[in-house]
This record gives sequence, structure tokens and C-alpha cells, in this order.
Amino acid sequence: MTKIDAKIPAGALAQKWTEYKSTTNLVNPANRKKLDIIIVGTGIAGAAAASTLGEQGYNVKVFCYQDSPRRAHSVAAQGGINAAKNYQNDNDSVHRLFYDMIKGGDYRSREANVYRAAEVSVQVIDHFTALGVPFARDYGGTLDTRSFGGVQVSRTFYAKGQTGQQCLLGTYSSLNRQIKKGSVKMYPRREMLELVLIDGKARGIITRNLITGEIERHSAHAVVLATGGYGTIYYLSTLAVNSNPSAAWKAHKKGAFFANPSFIQIHPTSIPQLNEFQSKLTLMSESLRNDGRIWTPKKKADNRPANEIPEEERDYYLERRYPAFGNLVPRDVASRAAKERCDAGYGVGKTGLAVYLDFKDAINKQGKQAIEDKYGNLFEMYLNITGIDPYAEPMMIYPAGHYTMGGLWVDYELMTTIQGLYSIGESNFSDHGANRLGASSLMQAAGDGYFILPNTINNYLSKEINTPKITTDAPEFADAEKSVADRLNKLMSVKGSKSASSFHKRLGKIMWDYCGMSRNEAGLKEALKLIAALKKEFWHDLNVPGSMYEVNQELEKAGRIADYFEVAELLINDALNRNESCGAHFREEYQTTDGEALRNDTEYSYVAVWEYAGEDKPHVLHKENLTFEDVEVKARSYK
Ligand SMILES: Cc1cc2nc3c(=O)[nH]c(=O)nc-3n(C[C@H](O)[C@H](O)[C@H](O)COP(=O)(O)OP(=O)(O)OC[C@H]3O[C@@H](n4cnc5c(N)ncnc54)[C@H](O)[C@@H]3O)c2cc1C
Repeated sequence: MTKIDAKIPAGALAQKWTEYKSTTNLVNPANRKKLDIIIVGTGIAGAAAASTLGEQGYNVKVFCYQDSPRRAHSVAAQGGINAAKNYQNDNDSVHRLFYDMIKGGDYRSREANVYRAAEVSVQVIDHFTALGVPFARDYGGTLDTRSFGGVQVSRTFYAKGQTGQQCLLGTYSSLNRQIKKGSVKMYPRREMLELVLIDGKARGIITRNLITGEIERHSAHAVVLATGGYGTIYYLSTLAVNSNPSAAWKAHKKGAFFANPSFIQIHPTSIPQLNEFQSKLTLMSESLRNDGRIWTPKKKADNRPANEIPEEERDYYLERRYPAFGNLVPRDVASRAAKERCDAGYGVGKTGLAVYLDFKDAINKQGKQAIEDKYGNLFEMYLNITGIDPYAEPMMIYPAGHYTMGGLWVDYELMTTIQGLYSIGESNFSDHGANRLGASSLMQAAGDGYFILPNTINNYLSKEINTPKITTDAPEFADAEKSVADRLNKLMSVKGSKSASSFHKRLGKIMWDYCGMSRNEAGLKEALKLIAALKKEFWHDLNVPGSMYEVNQELEKAGRIADYFEVAELLINDALNRNESCGAHFREEYQTTDGEALRNDTEYSYVAVWEYAGEDKPHVLHKENLTFEDVEVKARSYK
């Protein structure tokens, strides 16, 4: 049986990474040319890893399902990226960033990984700046920063509300340089549909060419998944519509354990759903909470236009409940507070499922131009989508599914429980515990890709220098290819009457209603029954038009949704297992008298690590116990 070993280096927390780097095994440059690495994903994490490993001299093959690597979901990131630079001289430090993340994650993350993420954050910003990322600058010409939720310093670097786009373009340019040099080969419009293991080691992948439908074999000495998150399990979410968990799930079914699947972040400031036909929600960045004030009317069902509600009749409920952090409380806290207000009848808009995010005070104080300079593109987006001018009236916002803290379990080297299979960026579970702090995902994805994986993968590859090129003629490749073809044929041959998306929408609703912002035992058990019935219906009544050997987006969706059902079941079982509330996982049975999350450190101070045991068999739970040597574990308070 596979045992989990986090391989955390010995020594003082602040020295572990330096010590690791100076003692780990290396591969000499001449040998690197003999070794192939597959990277699936071209978001910040995958593109950063591909360009760095290409520069180091490895042969890198990189895959994405989009037509260009720069369309990866990272392009959508808006508000900023954290780094412990302390440019503002406001008491920031690597240790404070580390502490904020541990506390923000509600003490459910691994100290050593979090410290390292904070440590490399300073290199990440320098690197992006060197690549030419146009971060905002202050009057004196130095890099500007702003604040994000759950912190009391200003450490978030930003490029208006397009930070992800600018960082991805920078990363993409270094990726292109390697593609031109021939060290990286790019495979766009490919979907990884299976992982290939030989003698227990990750040795390749099976992909479908999304243009021709051809099923292809690709081999390597190691495989890296940088495939992003699965917040789309709610159907309506802030993510790109095609983001999906299938690559990670295929790896999971081949032996990579899955950690904390139920830790999903619900972002407090999305534009509310406008109609039944929507397939996605649009985020209004957390950065807006630097200047925007959140409120609801003090009177229930008050349907006066916002500007007609006088100051004394407004409840700035975050400032009231959390005076120390005010509008900048972490996302889980802000989302639950919005839900509480709306459930209690104070919500605004046609559905009552919205609260106001108001810039009136900020505009009066700083002037319209200053607000436009900081958030102009976000305001424009809001106006285009809703028809309401947020300079003149408050925005309406509501929480939406956003980011997955859970993901493939990885050790300190970012290796999964499969030898030679790594997971980086949002696809792994490693740094954010039960709740991610804003602007720390780009930081982690870039840190993993640029600075961590390129320093850990050598340790494994140093033992592979005598392994010849992996042949795709091996029977393991033939078997994997056959299983992919069988699965696609199975989906094509249901020949029912309903589209894949219609099932996704129904699954998303079950997940949102029973396993969203708050959960309880009875609801979770009900959700399991509803999902089992929906899954059965899917396999009897799915309709996939067209054929396998052509562009067929319905087939792509169907394959992903078939996986979503299984992911959803694990997610709910994980939520049922965790009889406590922590971070984004709010079990209604476990709360304080004033409605805050109530952790149970005695019984649940562990990462829940799930092993796939076979079709229709319950997953096996492993526990990675969390020990905190450098921080005192206490109740999280933002009051
Ligand atoms: C609207 C929005 C705004 C955000 N704003 C911020 C922010 O301001 N700051 C911040 O820190 N974070 C932000 N985030 C979070 C952040 O954007 C993501 O967590 C991060 O970009 C993830 O990067 P990644 O490289 O791990 O994955 P992604 O960028 O999601 O890339 C995944 C890649 O994997 C590929 N892929 C996936 N599956 C397969 C498969 N089966 N076969 C082939 N290829 C596959 C895709 O093609 C893609 O290239 C935001 C998120 C959203 C939704």
C-alpha cells in the first residue's frame, strides 16, 4: 500500500529550502539533453515550468487544450500578485506573509510548503519585472502595491485589473523563446485523457487531438500536471468555462492521491447571476474592496434605489462585524457574511441575492480619475455586463464558486504519490489550507513553475540518466490508448436525448445547494443520492452528436462531466468526513454562537488524503497530520 511521506527537510523552517537546494541531487547539463519532460498545462504554473526546464536544457513537451498557451485560464486573474517585498515599509516580511497564509488557510496547510511559497514570492516579482510585466508604479516610479483580504499590509503588486493577463504574457514570451530554441515543443489543442505508468512510474500521457480527433501517445521520463482547478464543478463559477479536473482525476485513478477535495473557495464579489441561460459568472476583483464599501439596507426587503437610501439606513456589515479588517476580511468570511445578510432578508436587487459594493466615498475622497486609474477595466466590464454605471451607482455583487484549495496531494518536492508525476499551481493542494488569501495563487503558481519544481525535479531525474528514451510501443501505452478509445466510444454510443451541459448545470446546482458556502450532514447525504441518480441518467440519456474523429466539443464536455460526477462524490464524502468548520468548509453543525467557523484541532488537524480504491468502491482515507512548530495555533479572528 502507498504510504504518504511529505519529505519535509529537517532543520529550522527558514533554512529548509536553502538547505534542500544546496544538498539535493542534480543532473549535469550534458545529461539533461537525454531526458524528456511532459508538462500538461500552459497557465502561469505550466508555462513557467516549461520555459525554465527548457532553459535548463531538458527536452520539454508541453500541452494545452486551447489554441494558444496564452489562453490558459491564468489570463483571467485580475487583482494582483503577492510578494513579501516590504516596499511600503509597513512591517511586511517573509515570515508575516507565511503567517498570514497559515492563518488565512485556517491552520490546515503544511508549514514548510507555505514558508517556501512566501520565501520565493520575492524572486517571483523580480523575475516578472525582469520579463517586462508592466506592474503599476507609484509617483516615484517604483512598483506600487495594494492590499488584499486577510492582511494588514500592502503587498499586492498589480497591473490594473489584468494582472494575470500581463503575468501570463510575460511567461508566454519566455515560453516562446524556448519553443524557438527547440528545447520546448508545444502541443496546443490536445486534451490529456490518460496517464501512462510503466513499472509504477509516470512515463507518458495519451491525448486526443481536438482538431482531428486522433488519439496520440507521448512519452517522457517525468510528467508534470499544471492543469488548474475544478471550481467549475458548480457549473456557474468565475473560472473559464472549460477549466476542468479531468487530467488530475485520471492521474488520481492511476494512483495519485487527492487531498482536501471539499476545500473550495467561494469568492464574495462576483456579478450575480442575471438569467437562466448563463454559463459563467464574472468576477469583480477583490482589489475593489480596498476602496469599495460593502453594505445592505438596514431595513429588510428595502427596494429603494441604492442612491436613495440615506447613510444612516445603510448597514456596512463587514465594518460592523470585523472592525480590525473591515471590508478586507478574507474571502470565506466575506462570502458567508453576504449569505447571512441575504438569507436574513436584507439582500438587494430583483432576486434579493446581492449586496452593494459602493465607491461613493472613495470617489468623493480620491476623485473619479484615481479610481479609474486603479480599477478602470473592472468598472467597464461591470457596465458592459449589467448596464449599470458603477461610478454613479454601487455595484451589486454575490458570492460564486472560484478557486480550489484541494487538489492532487504532493510532497515537499511537489511530487504526487506516483513516482515521476508532479503537480504544480492550482492543480495541487499544497499551500492554501482551507482558504486561499487573495493574490496568492499567481504567486504560488509562478513560484512552483519558476523556482520550486525546477529545483526539485532534478532529484528524481538524477536517477533516470541511464533510462533510455521511453518508447510509446510499450504495451502500457497500447492499453492506455485502448481504454481512452473505449471510454470515448462509450460516451458516443449512449445516444440519448440530453446535452452534456444540461447535466453539468444540474450537477452544479446540487453542488451549490448542498456543498457550497455552507454544508450539513443531512444535505450532503441527500446530495450523494441526487448525484448517483443524475450520474445514472447521464449514462442512459446523454446525447453526443457528430463523430469522434472531428472537432467535437460536445464529446469534450461529456468526458469532463463524466469525471465531474466522480469528483463530486469524493468532494462530498470529504465534506462529510470533516466534522468541523474551517476556512471555506463551513459545516452548519460546527459554528460559534456568533456564526463563525468552529475548528476541531484535536480531531481534524490533518490533510485528508484520499486513495482511489476502484470502480464503485469507497475511497481510502489517509491522514497527513499537521504539526505547527513556528506558529501558535489559535482561533482565527479578524475582529
Ligand atoms: C476570474 C479570476 C480572477 C483571479 N484573479 C486572481 C488574482 O488576481 N490573483 C491571484 O493570485 N489569483 C487569481 N485567480 C486565481 C488564479 O488565476 C489561478 O489560480 C491560476 O491562474 C491558476 O494557474 P495554473 O497555471 O495553475 O492553471 P490554469 O491557468 O488554470 O491553466 C491550466 C492549464 O492546463 C491545461 N489543461 C487542463 N486540463 C488539461 C488536459 N486534460 N489536457 C491538456 N491541457 C489541460 C489548460 O489548457 C491550461 O493551459 C483568479 C481566478 C479567477 C477565476
